[in-house]
Amino acid sequence: MLGRRANCVNFIDELQRDAMMSKAHMLGYPRIGARRELKRALEAYWKGESSETALLETGRQLRLTHWRAQRDAGLDFVAAGDFSFYDHVLDTSALLGVVPKRFGWRGGEVGLETYFRMARGRAVAGDHGETYACEMTKWFDTNYHYLVPEFEFDQTFKLSCNRLFDEVQEARAAGFNVKPVLLGPLSYLWLGKENRAGGRNFDRLELLDRLLPVYGEILLRLKTLGVEWVQLDEPALVLDLPQAWKSACESAYNRLQTGGLNILLATYFGALGDNLNLAVHLPVAGLHIDAVRAPEQLSTVLDRLPPYKILSVGAVDGRNIWRNDFERSLTLLEAAKAKLGGRVWVSASCSLLHVPYDLEAETQLDPELKSWLALAQQKLSEAAVLAGALNQGREAVAAELAENRHAQEARRSSARIHRPGVKARLETVDAGFARRHSEYAQRAATQRRALQLPLLPTTTIGSFPQTQEIRVARRDYRAGRIDEQTYRERMREEIRQAISRQEAIGLDVLVHGEAERNDMVEYFGELLEGFAFTQHGWVQSYGSRCVKPPVIVGDVGRPAPMTVEWTQYAQSLTDKPVKGMLTGPVTVLQWSFVRDDQPRETTCRQIALALRDEVADLEAAGIRVIQIDEPAFREGLPLRHSEWNAYLRWAVDCFKIASCAVSDETQIHTHMCYAEFNDIIEAIAALDADVITIETSRSRMELLEAFRAFKYPNEIGPGVYDIHSPRTPAVSEMITLLSKASRLIPVERLWINPDCGLKTRNWPEVQAALENMVTAAKNLRKSFSHAA
Ligand code: GLN
Ligand code: ZN
Repeated sequence: MLGRRANCVNFIDELQRDAMMSKAHMLGYPRIGARRELKRALEAYWKGESSETALLETGRQLRLTHWRAQRDAGLDFVAAGDFSFYDHVLDTSALLGVVPKRFGWRGGEVGLETYFRMARGRAVAGDHGETYACEMTKWFDTNYHYLVPEFEFDQTFKLSCNRLFDEVQEARAAGFNVKPVLLGPLSYLWLGKENRAGGRNFDRLELLDRLLPVYGEILLRLKTLGVEWVQLDEPALVLDLPQAWKSACESAYNRLQTGGLNILLATYFGALGDNLNLAVHLPVAGLHIDAVRAPEQLSTVLDRLPPYKILSVGAVDGRNIWRNDFERSLTLLEAAKAKLGGRVWVSASCSLLHVPYDLEAETQLDPELKSWLALAQQKLSEAAVLAGALNQGREAVAAELAENRHAQEARRSSARIHRPGVKARLETVDAGFARRHSEYAQRAATQRRALQLPLLPTTTIGSFPQTQEIRVARRDYRAGRIDEQTYRERMREEIRQAISRQEAIGLDVLVHGEAERNDMVEYFGELLEGFAFTQHGWVQSYGSRCVKPPVIVGDVGRPAPMTVEWTQYAQSLTDKPVKGMLTGPVTVLQWSFVRDDQPRETTCRQIALALRDEVADLEAAGIRVIQIDEPAFREGLPLRHSEWNAYLRWAVDCFKIASCAVSDETQIHTHMCYAEFNDIIEAIAALDADVITIETSRSRMELLEAFRAFKYPNEIGPGVYDIHSPRTPAVSEMITLLSKASRLIPVERLWINPDCGLKTRNWPEVQAALENMVTAAKNLRKSFSHAA
């Protein structure tokens, strides 16, 4: 009798102790597979080369591996529902039965076929239900893309996919303590769009009333499965939300039926800002905040958090690959613990979806660099160590802390990071670096005389088809199968062909074709100092697509010219001007993992200076037209409007530092491959490029409105050839587009070019389209000279 009672007391003690303990957990884990297993399984399935069973099995294995990694690292929960066969927003749509009519879904379970059709327009090769896919767009300010939910005026919601519940059961059956993860109702609606076809004007927020009961149902079902904590992601709370959405958020969480289930409301990618009070007071059991992007919000949150709530502090960076600074994190976490005791949990700032898997796979990186990095697997351990320090005191993890401190110190003073020459030069940059000698109007006259271009000059955006031969040559060279001289000769052969083709087609400003570039950022990164490259550092971009961003480790310098030889060679083959081709500083920054030990702005300025030297060398080598691509200029915009100006100021400045070293005679082009300019048109104009080429063909020139309304002063090449499509646009189509453009922009300032680079197309397509483009230009020139 006594014995049983003692046991019982022990048990209660244990429960209480457990409640006093800080837990470590993750908001989500990568899903593509450490060796991109999911990519391969998906692509085989889509091609009809493997079965659905095989695909499902790959998914199951990956989940198991990911859960084991989380548990073995010492986390208290594993996340479920973060796995996806394509995209987690699409998963949410499937779960809620939000399937646009064109996919022919008739209710019931949303199976993989419907699911992939929504993602890709078709499920597998030879699909008869083929239609256009759901729109894809960037997930907040990451390079991950989600599928935009489409809502009908009479949209209904109904539990329509069991995968989440199956996966929770799967985890529990395998003995894991599982915390399901689900996109919250507010963010889900926010990320979607209304289908207003047929003049149905409505606001998707009105759908919340219909949506909430289904969320209630999901939560109750999770409860029945034995779940204690559910994570609802509401990243929309770090955005500028209209008042109606804020109020809706409050009432939604007041109405959500949880049946006693604990909700952890997760916010990430920035500060809660004006939504802080709202987030802190929502009637849920816990709140997660991003303490990497916005550590300053911690103290306010601590002041205002109701006493019953737990606070999950995202102290480990989920967006970057640097090793955590334990000292800094513990300062934050211990401050939280002082107020909240065991109610502090430890996590990464956001899901680990945005970082590669495992540093251990990187056998080519040297030990010094490796000691500064942490990928997903390492970040799990970091969270566990931090939680250990909170629970057992710093002494319990003294060895880890000492080792971490040592690595941080080494990084802070390492010569591979700090190049005094680069820093000193940055100090010399003044306003003069970002100013051309004369105004555009004067430059334009000089350039007209120097370049002798016809009205409506024709050009392309840079790359030509990347043929199998090109890829093989690059691969052979890298692998050491061919020597440098052989490789050079192959590239020169490509350049010769590209030039002669362009001359035959009759283009006015030629390009060398970019055969030597595998990727527009990687190419420059490999030639600049301060960059490092991983072998397996893949991050999901969308569906089965991954990118492997370079790592900007230290001060950026340019040891030698990077493009001069190729460009000069191309120019030696023709009398027409050849356009030098560079990737702009903002794009290099945006598409890399960047240093976290100095502001992004500083890193960007260093890249700009390196490019400035390249521009000067190109000019000195006789290149009279130089294009600096900035396709990522817009995506660098901060999530909050209040921070836009600061970003735009330095981003514009960096472009100008890179481009302004040249004489009036040298023509600077830039290129951006998207169509939204309305809200940043002033910054675009401030770049003061002589010519900007942009994507317009798909929007049928609509976006040119922005350039007209603002009275954009310089030259513009609105794309007339949609390079995403294998279709050859007819001469008449291009004439129609250009006539439209000429009503918005004076014809003297118009160029004719494709929407973007041509590397993904094949030569027959490109040849036909460019011939039509040149014919269109000739016809238009005739009609304009008659009119004049
Ligand atoms: N010059 C590059 C190309 O033609 C531009 C690519 C891009 O805009 N993304 O491939
Ligand atoms: Zn482009």
